Amino acid sequence: MSECQNLENCNFFKMFENDKSKHLALKGFIYMFCKGRKQDQCVRKKISQILGSSQFVPPNMLPNGFAMAGTNKSNWSEKVTKLL
Ligand code: SF4
Repeated sequence: MSECQNLENCNFFKMFENDKSKHLALKGFIYMFCKGRKQDQCVRKKISQILGSSQFVPPNMLPNGFAMAGTNKSNWSEKVTKLL
């Protein structure tokens, strides 16, 4: 399967790439979603398509739509939370 076209610029990875405690989780998400069979189920990708830009997707949102461990949804816009 080809990888997601957003992978290089996905702000989810940019936010956590320097956090060593998250590296294993990031690898797992890349394997399952960005380069894997769940790519079409990525909530980040769906929200980005619906709202017209990835800039509206919260950086701490996981591909499965949950907030990264240790973070929360308090900064997520209503526009985003309504789509979940
Ligand atoms: S998290 Fe989703 S939108 Fe971002 S690169 Fe992976 S599959 Fe694409």
